[in-house]
This record gives sequence, C-alpha cells and structure tokens, in this order.
Amino acid sequence: MAKIQMKTPLVEMDGDEMTRVIWKQIKDILLLPYIDLKTEYYDLGLEHRNETDDQVTVDSAMATKKYGVAVKCATITPNAARMDEYHLKQMWKSPNGTIRALLDGTVFRTPIVVKGIEPYVTSWKKPIAIARHAYGDVYKASEVEVPAGAKAEILVTDSEGKETRTLIHDFKTAGIVQGMHNLDDSISSFAHACFRYALEQKMDLWFSTKDTISKKYDHHFKDLFAEIYEKDYRAQFEQAGITYFYTLIDDAVARVIRSEGGFIWACKNYDGDVMSDMLATGFGSLAMMTSVLVSPDGVYEYEAAHGTVQRHYYKHLAGEETSTNSIATIFAWSGALRKRGELDGLPDLCEFADRLEKASIETIESGVMTKDLYLISSLEEKRSVNTTEFLKEIASRL
Ligand code: NAP
Ligand code: MG
Repeated sequence: MAKIQMKTPLVEMDGDEMTRVIWKQIKDILLLPYIDLKTEYYDLGLEHRNETDDQVTVDSAMATKKYGVAVKCATITPNAARMDEYHLKQMWKSPNGTIRALLDGTVFRTPIVVKGIEPYVTSWKKPIAIARHAYGDVYKASEVEVPAGAKAEILVTDSEGKETRTLIHDFKTAGIVQGMHNLDDSISSFAHACFRYALEQKMDLWFSTKDTISKKYDHHFKDLFAEIYEKDYRAQFEQAGITYFYTLIDDAVARVIRSEGGFIWACKNYDGDVMSDMLATGFGSLAMMTSVLVSPDGVYEYEAAHGTVQRHYYKHLAGEETSTNSIATIFAWSGALRKRGELDGLPDLCEFADRLEKASIETIESGVMTKDLYLISSLEEKRSVNTTEFLKEIASRL
C-alpha cells in the first residue's frame, strides 16, 4: 500500500522522560508505516532547551505561527530538583507558558470517553470540553497585608495624570488586600477562540462568570463576549445549529453536573483552573485528557494534558517494565494530522486520523489496556499490557 502523502510539515515538539519514550514508539509503530510523515522537528527536551538557552522553545512557537499546526510532547517544567538533575544554567520557564504567550492562545481540554471507564457523574454521556482563559486575574495580582487603621484604595492615574480613587476598605483592624486586572484585547481573543472552536467542533458554547457579584469586572467579560457574538458569530452559530449561552457560574456548575455533556464550557482563568481538574477527575483519568491551544488567528498546538510521567520513566531507566497510557499523546498526533489534512485538502490524512482514534478506542473497549485504566475499568474481560504491547495492539486493529 502506498503511504499517505503530506503537503505542509507539522511542527513537531519533542519532550521529556516517559512521554519522550512513547513519542518515538508512536511514530515508529503507528505513524511511519502508513504516512510519509513530514515534520519540522524541534527538540524541547530539557537538555536541549538548556543548551540553546531556551531559544528552541521560542523557535518552535514561531514555526507554529508560520505553518499553523503543531504537535507537542509533554515537557519538564524545571524546579529546584531539576536544576541539579539536569545541571541547568537557569530555572527555565514552562515551555507551555512561553508558547501560550507567543501564540496568545486559549487552551481547550477534552476527555476521551470509552466504554468501561465510567464517569463518576452517571449522567455524563458525551465529553465536556473546558476552555480556560489563560491571562490575568488572580494569576497576575498584587497582594498587600494591611495594618489596623490603614485605608486601602484603588488609584487609577490616566495618561494626563488625572487620578481616580475608589475606596476598597477602611481597615479598623488588620487585614489583606488584593488588586488584579485583565485586558480587553486578551478577553476578546479568548472570546474569538471560543466561538471559533465551537463552530469547528459543532458544539454548543457555555460561558459563565460571577457577574451578579462582580458588577463591573466579571460583567465586562460577559459584555465583551455578547458584543463579539452578536457582531461576528450569531449568524454562523444559527446556521450551524449550535447555541451560545451565558449563565452565572453557580448555575453553570449545577447544569454541568445534570447535563449529558457534549458542549464547551468557557471559564475565566481561576474558574478554568479549578473546573478542569474537576472535569478530568469526573471523567475518570488524566491520562485520557487531550489539550489543544488555539490562537485567535487560527493556529493550533495539540498535546496531552498530563505531564512526562516521571515515576514510570525512572522504572523504565531501571530496566523495569512499564505500562504507561499513550492515548492522550496518540490523540495529540491524530488531532494535528487531521487539522493538517483539513487545511491542506488531504482527505486521506483526515481519514487516517479518524481510523487511528477508532483503533485506539476499540483496543480499550475490547478489554486491552494499560494498568491505569485496568484498575478502574468496569469491563468484565480485561487484561493489562505494557507500554509497547499496547501500541502494537492498536496497530493490529489499525
Ligand atoms: P504526570 O506526568 O501528569 O503524572 C502524574 C501521575 O499520574 C503519574 O505518576 C501516574 O500515576 C499518572 N499518569 C499521568 N499520565 C499517565 C499516563 N499517560 N499513563 C499512566 N499514568 C499516568 O505529572 P508529574 O509526574 O507530577 O510531573 C512530571 C513532569 O511533567 C514534571 O516535571 C512537570 O513539570 C511536567 N508536566 C508537564 C506538562 C506539559 O508538558 N503539558 C503538564 C504537567 C506536568 P502513577 O505514578 O500512580 O502510575
Ligand atoms: Mg489546577
């Protein structure tokens, strides 16, 4: 059989530890036998980031802007322990943070739903994707401890030097104060990314904030979303048969739990941080969560939501057998290949992505899975396989 041809290269961002081991195996076992794979390769492994003073991360993000689609392996975000382990010149920033800042993107996370891995919430039948705003609010706040007898105010000085003061609190006793901000540009980018993604996925979009209490701050998010929807997206949504719906976050939480899923839930930064952990756990496993960064100008970066699975890597290095789940990384590849196929008009490539996902799901639903899923699967006939066997089982169904 002739291999499937590609036109434009994918930006390939290699990574660290166990996911780096899996990365190569996925290519060797599931991709290279079928596709004449074209990629522009960037090694984001920590050693190479350190050698290049992290320039490789910036270069990979710029290449993503140029070509439009990237697939990324999980990477180490260095901490003190990694400084020693890898003899680092500095504590390099999180590559995901760097890439997100350069692409100005919004991250969408979606669980992969399979028979046998039952969500804890029994009404959930379809995936719920979460869109988290990735700029500002409490993540870029200033905080001050305030002594008794002090007065705290918000002071805004405009470009002409005119001052406006708003009282926060007259402190009779000691306390604390916090000042945070956001930007219209960033909120608008977030809104555009959500509306575009909903149209592409043909899924309803929900957006929630606490606008009843935060009458200016959160209300501003609500107003910008509404304005952008009316101006640029209402007609397209109606044509696609999907809806945009705003509700108070309390109400959203209640509705999400009662729903059967199948929609995108857009959240402010903090809400998205907390609710995405709730959803990942609710759907059963972090190893089954995919993630895609979408920029407002339509650039895509696909990855797994989990990290480099360090504990398994040390076992692997010690020569012990591992049973690491590669599903989310496989879906990062299939997502990126499908998007490349759509953009370049290559139906064979899109079909391959569909088949790869189908074979992966069928493998688990037929009872063959890695240990993490084996422990929670409700299937009666099931067996657990090692990292490489799992990929070969998928290949045999592909
Ligand atoms: P992790 O890699 O997400 O793994 C945490 C634990 O979850 C694992 O020890 C394992 O549990 C389980 N797990 C996660 N993914 C799995 C998979 N595919 N198959 C089977 N089990 C899986 O988080 P971590 O070990 O705390 O972090 C390791 C490194 O990843 C850190 O350096 C961190 O900076 C980085 N990280 C990167 C990203 C990213 O690049 N997007 C995201 C998060 C973290 P058991 O050990 O119990 O089997
Ligand atoms: Mg969190």
